[in-house]
Amino acid sequence: MSEHTLTVAGVTVDTRHWIGGEHVASAGTFVDVSPIDGSVLGEIARGTAAEASAAVAAARAAFPGWAATPRAERARILHAVADAVEKRIEDLSIVETHDNGALLRSHRRGVMPRVAHNFRFFADRLVGLGHDDFDTRGHTNHVSWDPAGPCVLITPWNAPLMLATWKIAPALAAGNTVILKPAEWSPLTASLFADIAAEAGLPAGVLNVVQGYGAEAGNALVSHPDVRRISFTGSVPTAKTIAAAAAANLVPASFELGGKSPLLVFADADLDLAVDLAVEQYDNAGQVCLAATRILVEETIAQEFTRRFTEKASALRQGDPRDETTDIGPNIHTRQLEKIDGFVQRALAAGARAVIGGRRGEGQYYAPTLLTDVAQDSEIVQEEVFGPVLTLQTFTDEDEAVRLANDTRFGLAATVATGDRGRAARVTDRLVAGTVWVNCFFVRDLQAPFGGSRHSGVGREGGTWSFDFYCDLKNTVTAP
Ligand code: NAD
Repeated sequence: MSEHTLTVAGVTVDTRHWIGGEHVASAGTFVDVSPIDGSVLGEIARGTAAEASAAVAAARAAFPGWAATPRAERARILHAVADAVEKRIEDLSIVETHDNGALLRSHRRGVMPRVAHNFRFFADRLVGLGHDDFDTRGHTNHVSWDPAGPCVLITPWNAPLMLATWKIAPALAAGNTVILKPAEWSPLTASLFADIAAEAGLPAGVLNVVQGYGAEAGNALVSHPDVRRISFTGSVPTAKTIAAAAAANLVPASFELGGKSPLLVFADADLDLAVDLAVEQYDNAGQVCLAATRILVEETIAQEFTRRFTEKASALRQGDPRDETTDIGPNIHTRQLEKIDGFVQRALAAGARAVIGGRRGEGQYYAPTLLTDVAQDSEIVQEEVFGPVLTLQTFTDEDEAVRLANDTRFGLAATVATGDRGRAARVTDRLVAGTVWVNCFFVRDLQAPFGGSRHSGVGREGGTWSFDFYCDLKNTVTAP
């Protein structure tokens, strides 16, 4: 082990930046701590404007070659990256779990296979990408998707490698080069992935990783005049800062932001299913942007729903995320825990009642919490907590359910539990959300548009929408 590497459960990770196909150190470092037990994992390179500039320069230099690489060859390399990820699923899973505290079994079986799938999907989609030519008074119109140039990708800590590759894969497939700035609370899999992708044959400079803080490395990247796209997943306040930087350079930017999504449970719903859907919202210790954290239940079944929910939620096992039997792991950071507890204590002081939880657990764990007696205009109903905290409100009819559901500044997702297909159609039609699930949750297909309305985001990625964003579309008109 050198001063530039750390080892997590036997897996070695280089903690320097990855710029132009080289590991690059910084003068400064920051400490990476595991949420599992607060242990120090190691020191990570702390990027500054100098490394940000070097990474953009490397991405610029690599761009013409990668953009000119035939589609079939780009797709072949992206499939090779997917193959390499599949061979390292165990290593990536172990590192990610130590770094962000999410369940090891989820990483092994769901998240990391999905990382590989991100590359396969966009590689395949690239090969078939096209638009039928059309005629205008005998002239032929031909639409092409030209790569845009260096793209800056800024990602959060709640699903680090999954969210990073959801952007990297389409950006690279489109023929762009990228600079990724992962979140400072979960930097490791980005670095490990850069090495895996390079070994799989991704040319130098096509993918660059700059580690560091948002206000330093992140800000320098999004402000750089040579950047052609910015894709951001994270919080609303950061999005506003990045939007201003993007505006200064007139750079198209995509924003995938927070949510306060509702789960509407009608009296005609399969109640066991509805309870399962509600309990599922504690996944990843509630650190899921799409989580339906506001449970809205038809008044006539609220008591029975609450009884069954309490029984089921109380059986959840909270503990070490490496343990196969654990359902809920720790929260990412002590600062996040304090934030979560602040929301809950203020809600309790304002008259909310904790049906379950309502307090911190041991170490970096927060007790799964359900709060009732909450006012629609209260902070706990209006603001994203990003922890295992749900609220429960009741409604008397469809109109009230829809009104409550839509009454926040967000619009990321919504879930409807009902046994009546006509009602499902009426309600989903009126909901403001980028994704609506009926009698299910978290069923996601990469072909679908993904993003949020209102303060939950700007733009959509996924399927062809990703290529629309990461490309400069060109129409060529040829005379007969
Ligand atoms: P955050 O906004 O604090 O940080 C996200 C990233 O932005 C980090 O990498 C950070 O270093 C960087 N950053 C911070 N300031 C910056 C600046 N001035 N310039 C450039 N980069 C900067 O968010 P977070 O706490 O890491 O993530 C949680 C948030 O992300 C929640 O609101 C959650 O809902 C949201 N999220 C949304 C989605 C989605 O797809 N809609 C998915 C996951 C998470």
